[in-house]
Amino acid sequence: ILHFRIGPISKGRKKYGFIISIRDITQTRQLEVMRYQFVSNVSHELKTPLTSIQGFAETLKEGAIDNRDIALRFIDIIDIEAKRLYRLIQDILCLSEIENMENNDGNEVNFTPLIEEVVSMLEQNATEKQVEIKLDIKQSLILECANTDYVKQVIMNIVSNAVKYTDEGNVIISTYIEDGKKVFCVQDTGIGIPEESLPRIFERFYRVDKSRSRKSGGTGLGLSIVKHIVELYGGVVEITSKVNQGTSFKIVFPE
Ligand code: ADP
Repeated sequence: ILHFRIGPISKGRKKYGFIISIRDITQTRQLEVMRYQFVSNVSHELKTPLTSIQGFAETLKEGAIDNRDIALRFIDIIDIEAKRLYRLIQDILCLSEIENMENNDGNEVNFTPLIEEVVSMLEQNATEKQVEIKLDIKQSLILECANTDYVKQVIMNIVSNAVKYTDEGNVIISTYIEDGKKVFCVQDTGIGIPEESLPRIFERFYRVDKSRSRKSGGTGLGLSIVKHIVELYGGVVEITSKVNQGTSFKIVFPE
């Protein structure tokens, strides 16, 4: 997309000629469109729980409050939706923080204690779904200059997805060095991701199955956050997946 501007070259009242400037604004326009789409997606995602909260609060006011059982059920839904709203806002803030950040400060971060922390947080939920989480730390993975909270967020998002999208099965978390590169890998035996969805999986708010993601509390931003953090530390995320067999997320950091 080219942007033309014509203007006179003048000194006082005298005109000496014209100047034509041509600017390529393709990238600026693309960024504007992306920003617009993001804002419109965010509004939609925020409206969904809000509408639900409003609706149930109104129904309570109109009389449902008199039936204790129904009232408790509706209050439960309001609570769940409010928590979803909170998570969404947190994820949106996290994404915008990472996007505007450069990796110039940080400290040594070891993955092992963070993996153990994340596993202990997810263990109960996993056991309820008959999902067994196994650790396979072949070599510790240490990033020299990173932010502990961000690394923990990456581990949490990937492992919680593995648990979320697996019913009865295994999740194996491993760290090792391969050709000098540092690898963090999470494999599950869950529902898998269809091939046509794989290229879109890191887009903000993209979900293969909206209702399943919603039911399990997903915001649709988890992988987008993962990709941004991993790239901040010079890494790449590789996925392999087969529907009904499982998914493997492999994150590779340079030496
Ligand atoms: P969500 O909050 O919906 O889980 P994410 O950004 O974390 O959002 O993931 C995007 C989508 O990728 C999910 O909605 C789900 O469809 C798919 N996905 C992510 N991880 C897995 C996995 N381990 N197994 C199957 N599908 C997955």
